[in-house]
Amino acid sequence: MLEILNYIGGEMVTPASGEYFDNIEPATGEVYSLIPDSDERDVNLASDAAKAAFPAWSTTSPEERFAILMRLVSLIERDLEPLALAESKDNGKPVSLARSVDIPRAAANFRFYATAAMHLANESHETHGAGGVHAINYTLRQPIGVAGCISPWNLPLYLFTWKIAPAIAAGCTVVAKPSEVTPMTAYLLSKLCIEAGLPPGVLNIVHGTGPKVGSAIVAHKDIKAISFTGGTATGEEIARVAAPMFKKLSLELGGKNPNIIFADCNYDEMLATTVRSSFSNQGEICLCGSRIFVERPLYERFKQDFVERVSALKVGDPNSPATDVGAIVSKQHFEKILSYIDLAREEGGTILCGGKAVTAETQRHREEESGDITTVSQRLSVSAVRDLSGWFIEPTVIERLPHDCRTNQKEIFGPVVTIMPFDAEDEVLAYANSVRYGLAATLWTENLSRAHRISAKLESGIVWVNCWMLRDLRTPFGGVKDSGIGREGGFEALRFFTEEKNVCLRL
Ligand code: NDP
Repeated sequence: MLEILNYIGGEMVTPASGEYFDNIEPATGEVYSLIPDSDERDVNLASDAAKAAFPAWSTTSPEERFAILMRLVSLIERDLEPLALAESKDNGKPVSLARSVDIPRAAANFRFYATAAMHLANESHETHGAGGVHAINYTLRQPIGVAGCISPWNLPLYLFTWKIAPAIAAGCTVVAKPSEVTPMTAYLLSKLCIEAGLPPGVLNIVHGTGPKVGSAIVAHKDIKAISFTGGTATGEEIARVAAPMFKKLSLELGGKNPNIIFADCNYDEMLATTVRSSFSNQGEICLCGSRIFVERPLYERFKQDFVERVSALKVGDPNSPATDVGAIVSKQHFEKILSYIDLAREEGGTILCGGKAVTAETQRHREEESGDITTVSQRLSVSAVRDLSGWFIEPTVIERLPHDCRTNQKEIFGPVVTIMPFDAEDEVLAYANSVRYGLAATLWTENLSRAHRISAKLESGIVWVNCWMLRDLRTPFGGVKDSGIGREGGFEALRFFTEEKNVCLRL
């Protein structure tokens, strides 16, 4: 069985403990590789390697870093197919999504920051003081040192590289930890870093659990900045440890995003996008809209059409090109999502579609009933060689729940949405802003004034108007309230990984 290795000081190495734990494929529930059970000792080695590499790396020119990072981009693009297959197997997402979104975006992250670092400018101020004093103030922007990057399982390589790329491009060296649930593409990336000629110690990847590896990174005295994406509770714990050490912190945390639909919207566009913004990646994207508010005159029409489209989504083998919704990432997360569906029932919600786990058997019946012969035959041929006894949940739509019940306040992070009618603008704004989170919001209206008005009032780091997940890497990305602090993206991330120093030179 494949043993994943840590990447420390430019070498692929075994963990200090010599211990491994199981890496499970979510679609089958089977163990298919082993993850290093690393601990503080491995983090210390990684941090030492990063510290040793820092003086040389931080003084390379942006052009030299560009050359190496662009070699890495070419290698990721060369290996797009094996990386996409690995991501899909490790996470449960449809391979079509990994192929079209996750892996291209990982390459784009490195490409973007390889070039952005060459355009980062510093400020200068000419100063005239009393008595004819004349000085130039200029700002040096210097890489902060060793940075810690910790990422979640939902978009594994996409989010891992979204942190590493700006850190390395800014001249920092890095100790990074992917989620233990989805370590495979980070492991494959470490091999590509060696092939690309990234100097030893510039990037170090330590695999293992959050409590052992993640917390050792956060608490390490030589790690000056922590860039973290994950759940709000973990973010709180990280802030508790890192803040008294005066570390720089970027926290991209949970969400419970509203999707607000006015009756004047472009209906077809809205409907197709809302299916996507609800259930892409099994609803396991921090930007997915999970609370859908629909203006009352449109409510019944939307409900009928939405439920019809959602019921037609194919849940199944992530490997199949026909699959829309793959496997839930882990048994633990699968059980958590199902428990929220139970909670919705207890709170008086009506399940309009979905609401249950999908087994290979129920999926087969569903396809036979729908008469979708193509899918049935694909399913049977795939099932003949693969036992899909992993963790699948039907895309679920729930109505008749108030905006302030627990189902509508807690982050579920799965293929579950609620729909609710509203009558007035102020009313829906109050509903939208009633949660502790504030990551992303989606708004559908053809009324330009209303679009501006509501965008300004939404408590959210990102507002999509008449679109969803239309990303431009130059824009600030992050949340307000309990969705985190700091912004990623654009020059903001390069600023995060650098420290400003003002030099005042009297002339
Ligand atoms: P977690 O917070 O559980 O884990 C995120 C990462 O932190 C993992 O690598 C995890 O390790 C690690 N970790 C866990 N405990 C600690 C600790 N004490 N100290 C340091 N690191 C630790 O989140 P999930 O992986 O479950 O991801 C889902 C969450 O991420 C959702 O809440 C989602 O909203 C959020 N998210 C936010 C995004 C944003 O941009 N705002 C984007 C994507 C997701 P391990 O898993 O190995 O234990």
